[in-house]
Amino acid sequence: MKLQDSQADVLIIGAGLAGMMAAWAAGQEGARVLLLDRSSLGMGTNSALSNAVLAAPTAAYPPEQYVRDTWEIGRRINRKSWVSRVAQEAPGAIERLLACGLEAQSSRDTYAILSPDPRAIPGVHLVRRVADRVKQAEHLHIDTGFYVTEILVEEGRAAGVQGLDTRGQETRLSAGAVILAAGGAGAVYHRNDNQKSTLGQGYALAARAGLALWDMEFVQFFPLVLAEPRLPSLILYPPLPREVRLVDARGQDLSFIHGAGSLGEAIMEKRDEFSAALYERLETAGPVFLDFRSVPASWWDRHPLKGMTRLAFDFRRTPVAIAPAAHFFMGGVRIDGQGETDLPGLFACGEMVWGLHGANRRGGNALTECLVSGWLAGSSAARRSGGQRTSAPATESLLPKYAPVSSLESIGKFRKRLKAAAWGKAGVVRTAEGLRTGLAEIGELEQGLADLQASNPQEKIWLHDLRGATMAVRAVLTAGLNRKESRGSFIRKDFPEEDNGRWLKNSCLTWQPRSREFITTYADAES
Ligand SMILES: Cc1cc2nc3c(=O)[nH]c(=O)nc-3n(C[C@H](O)[C@H](O)[C@H](O)COP(=O)(O)OP(=O)(O)OC[C@H]3O[C@@H](n4cnc5c(N)ncnc54)[C@H](O)[C@@H]3O)c2cc1C
Repeated sequence: MKLQDSQADVLIIGAGLAGMMAAWAAGQEGARVLLLDRSSLGMGTNSALSNAVLAAPTAAYPPEQYVRDTWEIGRRINRKSWVSRVAQEAPGAIERLLACGLEAQSSRDTYAILSPDPRAIPGVHLVRRVADRVKQAEHLHIDTGFYVTEILVEEGRAAGVQGLDTRGQETRLSAGAVILAAGGAGAVYHRNDNQKSTLGQGYALAARAGLALWDMEFVQFFPLVLAEPRLPSLILYPPLPREVRLVDARGQDLSFIHGAGSLGEAIMEKRDEFSAALYERLETAGPVFLDFRSVPASWWDRHPLKGMTRLAFDFRRTPVAIAPAAHFFMGGVRIDGQGETDLPGLFACGEMVWGLHGANRRGGNALTECLVSGWLAGSSAARRSGGQRTSAPATESLLPKYAPVSSLESIGKFRKRLKAAAWGKAGVVRTAEGLRTGLAEIGELEQGLADLQASNPQEKIWLHDLRGATMAVRAVLTAGLNRKESRGSFIRKDFPEEDNGRWLKNSCLTWQPRSREFITTYADAES
């Protein structure tokens, strides 16, 4: 396979909010940009699923306060220099976003993007507007349906990517600089509220290219997500009516799980404890439901209940199954002040960047980070790529080749086993025993996966997805087993206390291709 000259100065993997901001910024610098996504521009992304709330300093909320609050929520292991940078850049980034023709309702420390249709997900409106703006760039080529399987490295720098194009052909594309904007990995969990394809591909691409993954044990879970088999995993945000009740299958009150106060207050004030209590209840005593039958009719015309009315479920008559679900990955790759990773020529932005969130994410900070890191990566990559575009033959792929034998059924089974292992062993509440068993299960899955073969391009993509997802789960389990305390979203039943004496540290995982394991080291958190 020859390396095709993509004619791009900057090649971007992922067209979520971060990738689109990067494309916009690089285009503004005059770069020729190639924006690749396995799905459509903006729409197959977590950005489109979002509630479109952004946290930022405002006139009434100074940057220093934003930094302090973000650091406290992150339980003081955030990368403080990056938090300060985001604080500094966020107001300008939000101004730029709103100039796309978006309206926002602002509070002391957040901006909530308003959608013209209250039944629609606000994130869809957000990404549509940004996509319209990005498409105006002069030298932009968008290739949707391109699935990246590898970052090509030549002479110690990123030189392009390898992947499957829309016809399923293995293709190599060169570029002066590459930007990873591939999102998180929430969908590796049996219960999650992410897009189905959010399977940690970005982490796997980065780790295989030799980058370290930081703080991968920290996964944020959201307590109330629809868990009815036929319904989408819709997240239920506050404000929720006081009349809605948590019940078991027989209708018995379970309000002791969230304690005094309303469900909405439990989500806002003690989200992690609430998720943990729900998780333990589900694992030991069966399903939990929300009963909306006493909710006054006027609520069904208001956000967020209005959005539920478009689903084929009679919420006004039937209690609905709910569960906590994986929501966001705090860990990821390290970038420098220019948005560049430790591999020269490779930049990163969005959810897959490490450092802003520490042990827990402050609500609204993920989208703000997409704006800031996307812009930084796009403009730096454009400046850095000048004259670097390579057309030399790439090094041979390190990925194994597969013979054509159909394995559709096995792929489905493997996917199910992987998600169950992630949920059961690397879920909301973890123990050493569970994490060790999880690693053993992942080892078995990896062995089985090595024998699976794809018979067509779609199966190839599913297999790559599975291999990437397996690596992401291995990272969560490995870092989780080694951290012997609880902190932020990370809850160890066998080490329930936060231990500032020993654990004000960031974990750093390095992939060992021969043993197919991660090695863990630690760095002291920035103070
Ligand atoms: C239900 C929900 C609500 C949320 N609400 C908020 C909120 O209100 N405020 C907030 O701050 N955060 C929120 N978040 C978090 C936030 O939405 C995400 O962290 C953010 O959108 C991630 O953006 P991104 O650009 O990094 O990745 P994404 O938007 O996930 O985009 C990544 C893209 O990369 C593509 N991709 C991945 N791998 C490959 C590959 N190998 N080849 C080609 N393409 C690839 C994917 O297809 C995808 O299109 C929410 C998350 C969820 C799930």
